[in-house]
Amino acid sequence: MTSLEWVDQELENLKNEGRYVPIRILETSQGAHVKIEGKEVLNMCSNNYLGLANNPEVKKAVVEAIDEYGIGAGAVRSIAGTMEIHMKLEEKVASFKHMESALVYQGGLLANLGTIPVLVSKEDVIFSEELNHASIIDGMRLSSAKRYVYDHMSVENLEKNLKEHRKEGKRSLIVTDGVFSMDGDIAPVKEIQELKDKYDTMFYVDDAHGEGVLGKNGRGIVDHFGLQGKVEIEMGTFSKALGSMGGFVAGSQKLIDLLKQRARPFLFSSALNPGDTAGVLKSIEIMERDDSLVKKLWENANFLQKGFRDAGFRLTSTKTPITPVVIGDEKKTLELSNYLYKNEGVFASPIVFPTVAKGVARIRVMPSAVHSKDDLKRTLEAFENGAKALKIM
Ligand code: PMP
Repeated sequence: MTSLEWVDQELENLKNEGRYVPIRILETSQGAHVKIEGKEVLNMCSNNYLGLANNPEVKKAVVEAIDEYGIGAGAVRSIAGTMEIHMKLEEKVASFKHMESALVYQGGLLANLGTIPVLVSKEDVIFSEELNHASIIDGMRLSSAKRYVYDHMSVENLEKNLKEHRKEGKRSLIVTDGVFSMDGDIAPVKEIQELKDKYDTMFYVDDAHGEGVLGKNGRGIVDHFGLQGKVEIEMGTFSKALGSMGGFVAGSQKLIDLLKQRARPFLFSSALNPGDTAGVLKSIEIMERDDSLVKKLWENANFLQKGFRDAGFRLTSTKTPITPVVIGDEKKTLELSNYLYKNEGVFASPIVFPTVAKGVARIRVMPSAVHSKDDLKRTLEAFENGAKALKIM
């Protein structure tokens, strides 16, 4: 018997419980259509909201940056890894977000892991939304601060928690996803901002699914609520609408200065590659110049969501292009996803526990600005065929 024999058992359990998710391998770039196992399929599950992952202008900027700066940053930011292009991107992010300053990380997950433990530590308290993203949860765990989880979308429950526990810590922090990635609903950021002022806490919003989607030209959730200059700390990612990878935190100059001294992904992990950095810079320039991609994304999302509702599918109370088709049972969800892929040539991944709670497994359909009306009609037809064939509805 080897010491890793438990791994077989663990994999077996996942398969028996219907929680073993197959990983499909893309043979082409991200886009409305991709090739998998030699076959062209309709791609309905990527976060490439605006199609910028394969935009010719962005790709050109990446190639030019690689010519100029090479492929790697060569070191952690604080030793020798900070390049001019990182500084340019940070200035661009700050101005796009109407913030004083910004810090670029190598990923959105790292932005959460790096920033939250600088804001709070073990003598402090955090008030965290029930459905916050895993990277926020891990960032909170790393901070060792005491955590109070408030009910999803409930300002009343947040206030109750603030009243009861605010004084337990030296510092306190409210943290929430702006757009909830598995449900598509939007946090009541305006009301949370009012509570932040009333109870004198810090407030941190993760805008990963708001960028490129909400606000003027896709500036995100703070712009969407007209709270420019009011929300102190905004975090985001470059891996979704901006088409590349990396993450950021935007806030006051002093906060960013402190993060540069303390945030562990900044101090102990090499900087974002120059090519990725340049790609993000170009994506933001495109968004600033022209809001047609954001408009197209919403037009497609509205069409698709109406189609699902009219056909009798159960969606969450989504308010964004995230289109979660709730099936409930995990095995049925996996079966439907497989059916769509094998019989209809539609790639739409299942989302099961622990990504969502047990009993509300779903297929999260992600329309983008680069899908055509025909793509969306084909998706709706495929779901109807699948639901009939598997007796889901
Ligand atoms: N926060 C939220 C709300 C997310 O949905 C994600 C991506 N799944 C992240 C953070 C992490 O971002 P990244 O993929 O850039 O690491």
